[in-house]
Amino acid sequence: MRRTVIKNILEEHGIKPRKKLGQSFLIPEAVARRIVDEAEINSKTNVVEIGPGLGILTEKIARRAKSVMAVEIDPKLYSILKERIQDNEKITFVNEDFLKINLREISQEWRKKLKVMGNLPYNITKPILMQILQNFKWIDSAVVMVQEEVARRICAPVHNKEFGALSLFVQYYSTPKLLFRIPPEAFYPRPAVWSRVVRLTIRSSPTIQVKDEKLFFKVIHSAFSQRRKMLRNVFKHFFQLDEKAILQLETNSEINLRNRGETLSLEEFGRLADCLFEVGLAYEKKN
Ligand code: SAH
Repeated sequence: MRRTVIKNILEEHGIKPRKKLGQSFLIPEAVARRIVDEAEINSKTNVVEIGPGLGILTEKIARRAKSVMAVEIDPKLYSILKERIQDNEKITFVNEDFLKINLREISQEWRKKLKVMGNLPYNITKPILMQILQNFKWIDSAVVMVQEEVARRICAPVHNKEFGALSLFVQYYSTPKLLFRIPPEAFYPRPAVWSRVVRLTIRSSPTIQVKDEKLFFKVIHSAFSQRRKMLRNVFKHFFQLDEKAILQLETNSEINLRNRGETLSLEEFGRLADCLFEVGLAYEKKN
């Protein structure tokens, strides 16, 4: 779609791109084709598309897939889509919030795991990733466009300066891969930052097993909420542990808590959370 074409369609319908909805439309057809190529779609694939916008990806996906459910929150864009893309029985447009749709039901209806795709509204990248990953049982992969900086954090390995809570969260549920970069000029309106397509290959069960998932994520969030502090100080404060409990935690986990969060791998965070779980239980019993 050319920039002028996008502008004209929007103007014709009296639409101003809404920042609040992360509306920024992809212009080059070649980039859209490349995204669809990277998604490894075949005639058996059922795709859920997040935020189709003016539909630059939708028909290209439909050409290869078995079906596409395109979920667009903006009622105006939804009606433009319905009007522009008619008579394609593979495509269903839904005027809903992607964060509120029931992916389990959709997958069960299609009797197959889903593939999720979309150029994400950047302001809600994290909630969208959560919605995708917490439904890991129903999804086999996601190919999404995010801000370059977020893509780097998602894929960062341990010891890297971009490694943090987001990397651990995503890597707990999936194997992420950085694909190609897209410059700001490729969008209307033009965003301030570069974008990057990433593929998350979602695991059928999480990368590691932990005793208490909530606690595991609490440990991660506490570790990165004060990046520069030693873990022992963070945990003392966060989990109300005394020196004795800290020492016990260090012995049991065989992890030096004078380290900082960015030096611990996913497995080590898992081990720490499991030991903390046990230390916690021991303390509860005593008191
Ligand atoms: N895929 C299109 C549009 C990307 S802009 C393109 O590449 O050109 C992001 C799109 O997501 C917009 O159409 C916006 O209206 C939509 N959107 C924003 N929040 C959403 C949500 N919670 N659920 C579904 N769609 C949403």
